[in-house]
Amino acid sequence: LFITIDGIDGCGKSSQVRKLAADLKEKALKKPDSAEQREIILTKEPGGTKAGKIFRDLLISSEYDLDPITELLLYCADRREHQNKVVIPETERENIVICDRFIMSTYAYQIFGRRLDSGILEYLTARTINRMPDLSIIIDVDIDTAVARARKRLERDFRMHQEGKFEQMPGQFFERVREGFLWYADNHKDTVIIDGNRSFNDVNKDIMRQVDKIL
Ligand code: C5P
Repeated sequence: LFITIDGIDGCGKSSQVRKLAADLKEKALKKPDSAEQREIILTKEPGGTKAGKIFRDLLISSEYDLDPITELLLYCADRREHQNKVVIPETERENIVICDRFIMSTYAYQIFGRRLDSGILEYLTARTINRMPDLSIIIDVDIDTAVARARKRLERDFRMHQEGKFEQMPGQFFERVREGFLWYADNHKDTVIIDGNRSFNDVNKDIMRQVDKIL
């Protein structure tokens, strides 16, 4: 099984992903027709492989001042590498792969946020990505909640975007990113939106309810 969890900075995604992995480990799920236990593989994009860590460094550090299309291509390269080295082999071994961010983030940040041509992403995804998620979850929070939860990190990103050629209005940038996630969910039936404005436990319960449906 391949499960992805996505959302805007500060939506609580990373702690929810860790909790989901811990909960699934506790369930000690068995592989079909085997006494062997399914492993829970917690991974992320960008940066889920050895080469991916270098891609992630290039993408996250403001030092390189990457052109937005270069950035988009690197996200696609990272995803291709991650598919072949982690997602496909682990799902073929009947393990459960939980991935922190996937294609919806690329739509949200690069296509909606940076206003890039979606055709490039569609073309590359169709030709390089074979294994799509069995379940995609988007944790949606309003921008004020996200900013309050991730003030430090967003301040760093605000500076980065302000320094960049493309972004003068960080608030509007994140509004567009959020809109991108909602658009993706509207157009992909295996994608579920969970209201992340609630308590950690409520969000965790909703995630588990969705995951239970596909176990
Ligand atoms: O959630 P994670 O730590 O992996 O995200 C790192 C940063 O990369 C986030 O601040 C997010 O804004 C950015 N990002 C991006 N475009 C993506 C994925 C992540 O700008 N497609």
